Amino acid sequence: MKKILILMGIPGSGKGTQARLLAQRYGYGHISTGDLLRRLDTDPAASAEDKAMLLDMKQGNLVADTLIYRLAFREILSYLKQGKGVILDGAIRSVDQAKAYNTFFEEQGIVSDVLVIDIALSNDIGYKRMTKRKVCAGCGDILPYTPENDEKEVCDKCGGSLVVRSDDTPEIIEKRLREQGNEKLAPILAYYDTLGMLVHVDGSQHITAVDEDVEKILHMNK
Ligand code: AMP
Repeated sequence: MKKILILMGIPGSGKGTQARLLAQRYGYGHISTGDLLRRLDTDPAASAEDKAMLLDMKQGNLVADTLIYRLAFREILSYLKQGKGVILDGAIRSVDQAKAYNTFFEEQGIVSDVLVIDIALSNDIGYKRMTKRKVCAGCGDILPYTPENDEKEVCDKCGGSLVVRSDDTPEIIEKRLREQGNEKLAPILAYYDTLGMLVHVDGSQHITAVDEDVEKILHMNK
């Protein structure tokens, strides 16, 4: 199986959910830049400059590339050193970033060991899913919308209370879909397509059906 799996998709496409399933199944490291940024936000040891850069996240904008590379590359190297593969979830959100990651993979000698999986979803369905999902105030776990999760008020893992993620308000969701929706994703996917690194799955299906399609793809792209 490829060592680096890059999951691409609009906010709400299910990248995080699929990344967690794959990480558990294959013992891969799961790197969500959104999670790394939210962790930085609550880290008392984080520098004032780094914290200031997080304002962009709170307003639904992309944060500075330099911060993303610093956080993500360090994590990737640490998993590779442990002999683990890596799943990148939401870590690439512009063509510039895609190019910078590819340069990094070339430097590490692993560019042929990278597969990009596009979890395709319309902005409309992404919007609906984001307005309905929840996050645990305790451990930060994100619960995708399912009829079962909709009933829950506390986290299965830590017992923390389930709340709406602070950037999942209708206003900020709309902003994120403008800044990070399919219109912004298209040139990044085109870039990977030209390099022959890209495969697609239909993200509008149920979680388990998307997972099965991803599995098939992984077996076909060893
Ligand atoms: P997510 O949890 O993946 O929805 O990410 C939450 C927010 O973190 C996004 O709305 C962006 O503000 C920021 N973010 C996450 N990953 C990146 C990235 N690769 N480049 C720039 N900003 C990012």
